[in-house]
Formats: sequence, C-alpha cells, structure tokens
Amino acid sequence: MLAPEVCPPSTNAPDQPLLTGWQSGFAALGPAFYTELPPTPLPAPYWVGTSAEVGALLGLPTDWPQRGDALQAFTGNALPPGARPLASVYSGHQFGVWAGQLGDGRAILLGETAAGLEVQLKGCGRTPYSRMGDGRAVLRSSIREFLCSEAMAALGIPTTRALCVAGSPQPVQREELETAAVVTRVAPSFIRFGHFEHFAARGQEAELRQLADHVIERHYPECRNAANPYAELLRQVSERTAQLLAQWQAVGFCHGVMNTDNMSILGLTIDYGPFQFLDAFDPGHICNHSDHMGRYAFNRQPGVAYWNLLCLAKAMLPLIQDVEQAQAALDSYEPVFVDAFMARLRAKLGLQQARADDEQLVDGLQRLLAEGAVDYAIFWRRLSHAVQDGNFEPVRDLFADRSGLDAWLLQYQELLAIDGRERSADLMLKTNPCYVLRNHLAEEAIRAAKLGDFSKLQTLQALLAEPFAEQPGFEAYADFPPDWASHISISCSS
Ligand code: AMP
Ligand code: MG
Repeated sequence: MLAPEVCPPSTNAPDQPLLTGWQSGFAALGPAFYTELPPTPLPAPYWVGTSAEVGALLGLPTDWPQRGDALQAFTGNALPPGARPLASVYSGHQFGVWAGQLGDGRAILLGETAAGLEVQLKGCGRTPYSRMGDGRAVLRSSIREFLCSEAMAALGIPTTRALCVAGSPQPVQREELETAAVVTRVAPSFIRFGHFEHFAARGQEAELRQLADHVIERHYPECRNAANPYAELLRQVSERTAQLLAQWQAVGFCHGVMNTDNMSILGLTIDYGPFQFLDAFDPGHICNHSDHMGRYAFNRQPGVAYWNLLCLAKAMLPLIQDVEQAQAALDSYEPVFVDAFMARLRAKLGLQQARADDEQLVDGLQRLLAEGAVDYAIFWRRLSHAVQDGNFEPVRDLFADRSGLDAWLLQYQELLAIDGRERSADLMLKTNPCYVLRNHLAEEAIRAAKLGDFSKLQTLQALLAEPFAEQPGFEAYADFPPDWASHISISCSS
C-alpha cells in the first residue's frame, strides 16, 4: 500500500488529452463575478505529491503523474485546452470584522470538468484581488493543504480535494525565505459565504439573486420547490454546516481561520491554513498563533460557524425578504449540530442505541480528557482496542486520575454490555482513526520535501488514505507527538 505515487515526468508526447469536456459552470455567471486572467508561470516545476484517487474522480488518464503536460498544466505554466481561467471576487468578515473585498488573491479557477468538478490552482500568481499579497503559496503550506484535504476525505469528512502539489525553486518571502508551490484543488464549487456578502454589501441585488439561483440550480435543486427557495437554501446550508462542525468537533479538528470567506456554501472544509488535529485534548486549544483573542479556539468553532451563518443570512435577506423566515432558517442549526455530534460520539464509543443520559456520559468523558490533557486520537484508538480485547489498562495508563476514569468506565461498560462488545469494537475501529495528520507528522514530511525527499510525504499520504487500518512497522505515525511538536508555530502565513 505504500508504493510511491510520484514519478518523474515523461517527455513523451501525450496521446490522450489531459482534461476534456469543460463546462461553463461558474464562468457562465458573467464578468460581475470574476476577472478572467491566466496564471503566472513558475520556473522549473517539479512534482511534490499526486493523488491517483482525485485524478480518477476527474477522469484523468492514469498516466497523468508521469506526463509533462500535466505538470505544466497544474503549475499554471500551460493551460489544458478548453480551460477558461478566472479569479472570482468575494468579500467577508475576518476575525469578526468586516474586511470588504477580498477575492481569489492567489487562486485561479481553470473551469468545471465533465465530471461536474471545478479545478482550481492555488498559488499561481497575482490577481486583481491580491491586495498586498504576492499571489504565491509556499511549499510548506501547500503540502499541509494537500495532505489534509485527502486525509479529511478518507475520514469521511466533507472537504475540497487536492489533486496534486507541484513545487518550483522560485523564492517566496514569508517570515523566512521559502519556495513556491501550487496545489490543484478540486470541488463541486468553491463558492463561499463571502461571495454572497460581497454582492449584498454593494447592494447588487440582481447579482446576489443570480448567485443564489446558480447555487440552487447546481447544488441544491430541491430548494426550487420550496415556498421560499432562498430561505430553504439558507436552511440547507446551515444544516450542512452543522453536520460539518459536528464532524470536526468529534474528530478533534481545529480549522484555525473560520472567517466568512473561508466558509463553503456546500458545507465543505475549505482553505487549509493553520489547522491542527488535537494532540492532548484541550477544549480551548488555539491552533493559529495569529489568533490572539482565541476567536477560533477549538470549542468555539460551532458557535463561530453559527455567527458566520448569521452573516450569510443577513446577506441573503434581500432575497428571503422576511427577517423572521431568515432567522427561522437557522433554527435547526443547533439541534442538527447536537444530534450529529452525539451520533458521532456514540459511534466513537461503540454505542448503537441513543439513551437519555448519553450527553452526560460524553460530557463526563470530555472533562476527564481535558483534566488529564489526554492525547485525543490515542485515547480513542486505545479505547477501541480495549473494548475489543477486554483489557482497559492501556486506557487507564493515559490518565493520572484513575479513580475518575474508573467511575466513568464503570458506567460505560454497563452500556457496552447491553450493546454487545464485539459489534461495538467493530464500529469503534472503523470510527476512531489510528492515523491523523498531526502537526509534527506534516512538519517531518515538509522538512524532508524541502530537501528533495518526498518519501515521507508519500508514506504519510498512504497511511492517511486508510486511517483506520493499522500498518505494521508504522507505529511511530500513530504515537504521541514528540516534545518538539509543542513548539511548532503555525500562523496565517502561507
Ligand atoms: P486566507 O486567510 O488564506 O483565506 O486568505 C484571505 C484573503 O487573502 C483571500 O482573499 C486570499 O486570496 C488572500 N491571500 C492570502 N494570501 C495571499 C497571497 N500570498 N497573495 C495574494 N493574496 C493572498
Ligand atoms: Mg481563504
């Protein structure tokens, strides 16, 4: 399973076109929504990572990672025939403050393929929306986005996908001098809450309606039949967002920059920056070192998503035309979040039936995990094995306060006995990942890649593609973070 996916580019002339059947998609909305422009080329591109699975989703010929035209296309150096590159305009609230116009400052949409998936290059040069930025992305952050997109997909969490990362020796200045890279991202749509806020803020109601109609037509067709299609759209976006947040909170994922321009209208995880999978469980964990107020702390994420939905509701008000209906469209956010979160936690615990005191069981566990700063992923994996083999000592070893844990375990084991251990263990081993993209694992892959060694990245990619399957010989990837991991500083800089 750990066969390398990256091969040197072939110099042979390609026999099969790379991508065909472009559809008009987002481009059909018209020039108020974007600026058409080509990517800016990068010198001496080289492959860093490729995903055969995403290539297959796009219908790419299987030899694409060996093809020179693919490397040129996915660095923006030569466009695939039929592509119509553009940067879209959006606005948004950043850290709770209206930031005005933002837009794709370093991303260029190539178009929508026959498979109904949009292909976007991130890091391919300046656009009219770059503001003070250089339009580039560095190798470090591009590897993080590539690995995490695919890791989230393998965990079953809605996300934009990543086809590949290509690097270039071109220098890029951040806190340190780094080098450039491009991630090719794939999603049914890259429309954000901020696209709606943009046209609402400018009073461009016709464009706002056009955008909402496009989203309904392409992605939420069932809303067409509702009494108020726009209120129904808002409700559905809100519920998808609630489902997404439930998944993040259950798996221990901290996004780090939940600005409204980083919120997908499809409820996908989008714009991977300073994200982190929790090591020790800390409800107030802040993964973004630029987030001084802790606005995007782990336990604030569900509330922030709701705040972001309020911004979206406000933006959609001219379409919904009724404040009460707009407010009512968000009423289901909390119950959907709580139901989905509890369903995920029940699965993590291997419990097959919902019970009245489940929330109390989960709260009690979270308190113990927080008090003991217990490693989140390791706890769940050890608990899964304990339920399988009946030996809870490895779980007890994780806690300094054994008495508190023992009291909790007593209550939990009573429920397990009712549900049946074997079925519970099966469910738990498919729900609690053995491998998650911890910061230090990404960091090790990045350090090696900077030296031209992509084998660590490939190993990590392969393990994360099957996160529930323990691989003999790779125990270190499922182990506690080393001491140096707590000193990794991840900021917005990317
Ligand atoms: P982010 O926080 O990465 O979601 O980015 C917020 C805004 O800044 C978006 O409009 C991005 O396109 C833009 N941006 C971020 N980094 C750069 C960059 N290096 N060059 C141009 N625009 C950027
Ligand atoms: Mg963004």
